[in-house]
Amino acid sequence: MSMCPLCNGISSLTTNCQQCHAPMEDKGRIMDYFDDYSAYLDIEGMKLFNGISDDSKNNQCPHVFYCPNCHIEKTVLIQEEEAHY
Ligand SMILES: [Zn+2]
Ligand SMILES: [Zn+2]
Repeated sequence: MSMCPLCNGISSLTTNCQQCHAPMEDKGRIMDYFDDYSAYLDIEGMKLFNGISDDSKNNQCPHVFYCPNCHIEKTVLIQEEEAHY
């Protein structure tokens, strides 16, 4: 069984904004994130969502990262790790 180290609070991954290079905030799993915003999803968004759902079968957990300076979001696939306990 594998699990996402970010969702489980084991480790934190920092990713830097490509524009201002400030550390971006982890907004959580994209599934949870888009739950609140599903009304705003267009067709392209749904395609993206479905594509990412496929990726989750590869033990990757997609997280949304947000830059408070530039107000941009980025999706990062977090590699899940084997649970050893
Ligand atoms: Zn996760
Ligand atoms: Zn930025």
